[in-house]
Amino acid sequence: MNKVLIVEDEQHLADGLRFNLEAEGYQVDVAESGESAQQFLQNELPDVVVLDVMLPGKDGFAVMSEMRGAGQFVPTLMLTARGRPEDVLKGFAAGADDYLTKPFDLSILLARIRGLLRRREWLKSIPPAPKRPDRFVFGDKSVEFDALELRVRDQVFPLTLMEANLLRYLIRHEGKPVSRKKMLEEVWGLHEDTDTRAIDNFIVRLRRYIEDDPARPKHLLTVRGIGYRFVVNAA
Ligand code: CA
Repeated sequence: MNKVLIVEDEQHLADGLRFNLEAEGYQVDVAESGESAQQFLQNELPDVVVLDVMLPGKDGFAVMSEMRGAGQFVPTLMLTARGRPEDVLKGFAAGADDYLTKPFDLSILLARIRGLLRRREWLKSIPPAPKRPDRFVFGDKSVEFDALELRVRDQVFPLTLMEANLLRYLIRHEGKPVSRKKMLEEVWGLHEDTDTRAIDNFIVRLRRYIEDDPARPKHLLTVRGIGYRFVVNAA
């Protein structure tokens, strides 16, 4: 049974979500503040977190950053307020895997949660031979997909699920330009009119890990007017 943690202070909304998610077969816990969510996460890791941005005290962004900072890479869906596209970008930058704008349709929320669980399974299912680690090595760097880590010489950077998925996608298309729209569709499963700049935040972060000089990237190259291109060899 998959476990969902709902972090939401509006009780009627939290109750409604709990009722519907339980009806779908999830085990549900509710935290009414950022602080209580963090307390909960110290003892238990759910399969998915539904995290509202607007919370009393510590907000959803702070909770998100601290989760990633503490190495808790639970797939997380953020709930943002309508008309605040900057919140979406801020959420992605903090490490969120997906978002929904309030008010939302319940069936969409359920679909997004299933999507997060499916992508997690997909990522897990990809390793080829059981004895070989799921790893991609280029130069003195390697991406450890099993461990969600990026190793650069003796440094280790933890990756979020989405960062790992995005890297895997770019690596699979090595040498070829991939558009932002395509990445949002293939990696995030977002088909609607999403602000494609969300991708740029991810690239900025990945470059900080991968590139010796993030201002002069040699692996994650910008393709003007299109998107990005991953190349193995430092040109
Ligand atoms: Ca709220």
